[in-house]
Amino acid sequence: MLKKVIPYAHELLRETIQPGEVAVDATCGNGHDTTVLSKLVGDDGIVYAFDIQQQAIDRTMLLLEEQGIDNVHLLLADHQYAQAYIPKADHGRIGGAIFNLGYLPGSDKQTITTPESTVEAIRAISAILKPGGLIVIVVYHGHHGGEQEKQELLDYLTSLDQKEFSVLQYAFINQQNNPPFLLALQKSV
Ligand code: SAM
Repeated sequence: MLKKVIPYAHELLRETIQPGEVAVDATCGNGHDTTVLSKLVGDDGIVYAFDIQQQAIDRTMLLLEEQGIDNVHLLLADHQYAQAYIPKADHGRIGGAIFNLGYLPGSDKQTITTPESTVEAIRAISAILKPGGLIVIVVYHGHHGGEQEKQELLDYLTSLDQKEFSVLQYAFINQQNNPPFLLALQKSV
């Protein structure tokens, strides 16, 4: 069976992230991706989870508490400044990262990811990935502003040197109503 976008994103991360490594949830929202990353890095690893909305941080914290997870650093911060928030000792140790673009499900939809900060965050996090490390990006683009973010993201990722990064697009091209699609960026070994 063809995998749906989010399960496939998680599968790619599962193949890349090793126990004890560092992982990044760039848009923690309700915390579902954060819990997946937490299990992948295990007790000896660490997850840095970013969101610019207190509501998202609170919801993620609740989910982590419910699941007894304690290997996550929650950061109320813009992901474009990830390098400043992730300690230098962890630079180069990041096995994988996930971006889930758009707005927080169950919110007023006023706060959305933007092309400038998304592209800058991908630039910043890809620079401190381990060799072979992976960034997966789930692109929602049906909302106001989503189409522009999608275009700027594709422009940026298409321009990356193929000797440094492999970039994949995974999309169901006959689905109605702007279905989300996946972009995955792997740093060369
Ligand atoms: N991954 C989440 C989950 O599992 O529930 C869903 C994420 S939701 C689609 C997108 C999130 O990105 C929102 O919570 C929003 O506040 C956050 N966001 C928007 N701009 C951001 C930024 N510049 N830095 C960090 N988070 C941001």
